[in-house]
Amino acid sequence: MTTRAALPGLVSTIALACGLFLAAAAAQAAPDAKLLAAAEKAQPALIENLKEMVLIESGSLNVEGLQRMATVIEGRLQKSGFSTERRKATAGAGADIVIGTRKGTGKRRIMLQAHMDTVYAPGILGSQPYKVDGNRIYGPGIADDKGGIAVILASLQILADAGWRDYDTLTVLFNPDEEVGSVGSGELIATVADQHDTVLSFEPTAAKSVAKNEALLLGAAGIAQATLEVKGRASHAGAAPELGRNALYELSHQLLQTRDVAKDIPGATLNWTVARATGPINQITERAQALGDIRITQPGAEAKLASALQAKLASSKLIPDTETTVKVELGRPAFIAGDRGRALAEKAQAIYKELDRELTLVPMTGGGTDAAYAARSGKATVVESFGLAGFGYHAKDEYIEVDSIVPRLYLATRLLMEIGKQ
Ligand SMILES: [Zn+2]
Repeated sequence: MTTRAALPGLVSTIALACGLFLAAAAAQAAPDAKLLAAAEKAQPALIENLKEMVLIESGSLNVEGLQRMATVIEGRLQKSGFSTERRKATAGAGADIVIGTRKGTGKRRIMLQAHMDTVYAPGILGSQPYKVDGNRIYGPGIADDKGGIAVILASLQILADAGWRDYDTLTVLFNPDEEVGSVGSGELIATVADQHDTVLSFEPTAAKSVAKNEALLLGAAGIAQATLEVKGRASHAGAAPELGRNALYELSHQLLQTRDVAKDIPGATLNWTVARATGPINQITERAQALGDIRITQPGAEAKLASALQAKLASSKLIPDTETTVKVELGRPAFIAGDRGRALAEKAQAIYKELDRELTLVPMTGGGTDAAYAARSGKATVVESFGLAGFGYHAKDEYIEVDSIVPRLYLATRLLMEIGKQ
């Protein structure tokens, strides 16, 4: 009797303790059930939107396709209560940038961005069609970056439906030239981002086949180009070579003596990758040129590298009377999220935990991103890679993972709500 009586008592004590434990865990990290349900409900429409956009070929030079993308996006934004405008990219193929804005009742100014262009040549859908295969959906640009656009558009609809207005301004920006360095949109991105407190950028995150966890990106290398030019003196290579000053020899000398210059500059790498001298073969070379690929992971490193190159050039010459010049031109700057970016990304990590998912924070990648323009002045807090999980971008058989759609929608919407509360 005693045992019998004691046992149920013990069991119920354990059950009570477990119940308390579960309740405590739940209180710590329960997902917002309404928001999660809305994200689940939004998945079919997101996939439809994604399909519609993938079936529009929009390589960076395909102005017609990019304009169609802009029209589809504008339509969706207007349905979510946004006013929209288009601005011509200031350089490149000349397609439009789409900007949508909506005023809210809160304090924060928040911007979301993604790009409409892909790296693919016209006709790509012939060999790389839209295709659903289990958890994967294939298509050119589906991850990079149409998945990102689809997450933004669906998130805005979810938030509009939920009546969320806890922001001062919500701005979205879609550019048509990210894959060619954002030459005609980077300055606008920087300017618009400076008018905001927070910028979320929606490039893809790596799929399960290549990464253990989905990720957010806190840094990306900037790109610059070095141009080395040597002016020598032409002369007959057979009859009077001693009268010439061989620019090609001098170029070779300068390439070798500058090849390790970046090693002493934190946050810079330099690799000479192109050299040109056009001949003719029977003439001592008058002009020669080399181009170098520079990657920058610290602000200002390109300027230090330029001075170091100048100093090295001045230090020694192989061929007298030649003239060597070097210039360093910065393309897309480095993206450095900094402490504020990291803090925001940690908030995102906590939100992902509510879904029992891990989110890796990647400090630096070699690839370029428009987050760099958004973060250039350091005014806005910027985090990258809120797009869908995928793989094969800039390659073949690009795909997204369907089971990343709901978590990514939940992350974007829930994080926006959090940002609004700050
Ligand atoms: Zn991209």
